[in-house]
Amino acid sequence: MNKDMLRQWADELGLDLIGVAPISRYENVAPQWNPLSILPTAKSVIAFAREIPRGQFLGIEEGTFWISIARQTHPWYTYDLCRRFEDQGILAVPCSPLAPQRWPDGVVFDNAKVAPNVTPSLEYAATSAGLGEVGYNGLFLTPEFGVRQQLGMLFTEYELPPDEPFAGGLCDRERCAACAHECPLGAMGAGKTVDYGAGEILIADIDYKKCHYCKNGAFPDTSYHLAPPNRIAAACARACIACLERKGLTRSASRYKKPFRTREPWGVGIYE
Ligand code: SF4
Ligand code: SF4
Repeated sequence: MNKDMLRQWADELGLDLIGVAPISRYENVAPQWNPLSILPTAKSVIAFAREIPRGQFLGIEEGTFWISIARQTHPWYTYDLCRRFEDQGILAVPCSPLAPQRWPDGVVFDNAKVAPNVTPSLEYAATSAGLGEVGYNGLFLTPEFGVRQQLGMLFTEYELPPDEPFAGGLCDRERCAACAHECPLGAMGAGKTVDYGAGEILIADIDYKKCHYCKNGAFPDTSYHLAPPNRIAAACARACIACLERKGLTRSASRYKKPFRTREPWGVGIYE
């Protein structure tokens, strides 16, 4: 088992990005969110991503066709990768987390250290494994696709050569804020700092109560009634697609003949 094999598996499965974080990058992560609480012998966390076609966002951008866009890869990808690890005799644990607001959802049993369920963050794994960074809008961005990807993760006992954590610089969070300006509900307030595995970064303090009522492309997260909605196609995300494309910061954008945004964006408030 080596890194080339991992990349070959990703290619064969049609995954676009894959990276490895050593488990040492989780030393400051609380047990409730730490893969070591699930697999105490874990050595590597593998994060991967699959591009979402730009066309899936277009109906919402045009205001003519609503579809829900999944933020995570189908569990089949994680399942298949774990099977490939285990065919090599290496234990691998698939992880498709539900909304973190849902957990802990039980009682600490006997002498266990954490309550069920432990829910490692996809964004933390993907940042630590070098795929990209969380933008000011709180959504995961990569230099290849901006917000347009689904994420997946697994942990394994095998120690693979790690990738560097993402160095940052894709989201110009101090000066851009196009996402905040284009939120019709003014839900994105002054920033707060959060560490997603590559040092502290500034992200907007989002008023998710407003997002619950957002009619601008947000979809309910049905995994928990208090979970923030899926915002990957909402106005705050589409502003980012347009912004990164305009600045030439998403590599995949060069293949399109026309820009994503061709007119002023639409937007409606809570009472409209
Ligand atoms: S719109 Fe600008 S500030 Fe907002 S997430 Fe995208 S790049 Fe960052
Ligand atoms: S989901 Fe809607 S209300 Fe929430 S930040 Fe995005 S555009 Fe604003």
